[in-house]
Amino acid sequence: MKLSSVFLVSLLVPAFVGYVAAQDGNGPPAGGTSAPTSYSCPSTTCKLPACNCASATPPGGISAQQAPQFVTLTLDDAVQDALLNTTYHLLSHTKNPNGCQGKATFFVSIQYTNFHLVTQWYANGNEVADHTINHVGSPPPEEISGCHEVLSTYAGINRGHVKGFRAPFLNYTATTLKELGQQGFTYDSSATSLLDDAWWPYTLDYGLANDCYLGFCNEQTKIPGFWEIPMAATFDATSQPHLMDPYLDAAPDLVLSWLKTNFDRHYNGNRAPFGVYIHPVHLGPYPGLPDPAPMVNMITSFFDYASSKADVWFVTNQQLLQYVQNPVTKDKVGEQQYMQCHEPVVGKPICNGMSGDSSLVQSCNVGSGLSAVTYNTCYQCPSQLITLQTPVSPAPSGDNRAPPPDDCDTVWWDPIAKTCLCTNSSCSYKDLTQPINIVKGSAQPAGTGSNGTTSNPSGSGAFPTTVAPFLLFLVVLTFSFVAMDNCV
Ligand SMILES: [Zn+2]
Repeated sequence: MKLSSVFLVSLLVPAFVGYVAAQDGNGPPAGGTSAPTSYSCPSTTCKLPACNCASATPPGGISAQQAPQFVTLTLDDAVQDALLNTTYHLLSHTKNPNGCQGKATFFVSIQYTNFHLVTQWYANGNEVADHTINHVGSPPPEEISGCHEVLSTYAGINRGHVKGFRAPFLNYTATTLKELGQQGFTYDSSATSLLDDAWWPYTLDYGLANDCYLGFCNEQTKIPGFWEIPMAATFDATSQPHLMDPYLDAAPDLVLSWLKTNFDRHYNGNRAPFGVYIHPVHLGPYPGLPDPAPMVNMITSFFDYASSKADVWFVTNQQLLQYVQNPVTKDKVGEQQYMQCHEPVVGKPICNGMSGDSSLVQSCNVGSGLSAVTYNTCYQCPSQLITLQTPVSPAPSGDNRAPPPDDCDTVWWDPIAKTCLCTNSSCSYKDLTQPINIVKGSAQPAGTGSNGTTSNPSGSGAFPTTVAPFLLFLVVLTFSFVAMDNCV
């Protein structure tokens, strides 16, 4: 079975790429159950938004018929150019009911990562999460905190916006979860859910309720307010579970049928979130590896299939948690602030991950000989190699760039001038939301999407409802160019 056979397997891709892809994917034994035998969570005292019991039914007492279906796409390991292009291509085949393209979560390990691309990923509205510095399982605390520190310093992700963690090789322990809670993380997403424990995300106030065969679904994992987002396994025709990179397990047509069947089970069942968990390196164009096109096309075919269904939303893990903490019926999801898509109108190119900033990126050459590394960043260069012992080093003399302070979002921070371009309500956003009913036809209720520009420094609040036809045309045109650019 692939869930266990891929454990600790590493795949070397050509050395010039400079990348070692480590597969994640240990899991429960074939046919085994993961459900706890003694989990007990009193729903009378464990209440949203701070506490949520592990449950197969939607949060907030909402019926499955009235719940949205969420799909999470997650990517793991280093962020590199070709890998990210593949990921953007996959996302171009996701479409939410309000006309926004879906968003995804990248669990970033630091080794071999291009930091400017992480900034770009975040600036495009996606989530950046922690996957350690050196991609080690059962990570010591420094691997977790060091990764967080590097993402903040060299990718410019505000510290408070890195909320999630996934253990490399999905190799986590009760100590790992405790450590995450102590370091202030909001959630972990390393546990596997099968059929009998396909819970919605839940807090660990009453302990872990997945992967109980590991032996710590008990006092050791009671971490109040800390969330687990279980990874939903996909089952094949013989009821064997598959988790990460299922396209490596069988022919694309067969895997596509698995994904559709399992998605339908969620969609027509309790609507627990469904997930597609990917190592983009397997889908990249690397010499010596099989042509990835059939696998990529299989995934985009699945996304096309899921996107064609009513009430299906492709979300980041953070968006998913925002929903679970304050659940609404499916007809209200499009109104939620965290589901809007809007592009900051900064007014001039600054090094912030948005288009036009590439000429402002620094290439920092550190080390020598075989250990020489070039780091690309909008922010200060490290003066020495990034290591577990020294994740962040002082900037070289004369390098006065700085990452954004906590009160300035990455997209509004000019790291060269060291100024925040959004400090009050005058900041404007271009709303890319489209009317709901133009996407999924009669399957959706008429929506209130809009296209326009609004003042909105924190990204909260309502957008104007006036639809300007020429702006709609420009937005559609922009989508077309972005799609073309991302699919090459
Ligand atoms: Zn990994």
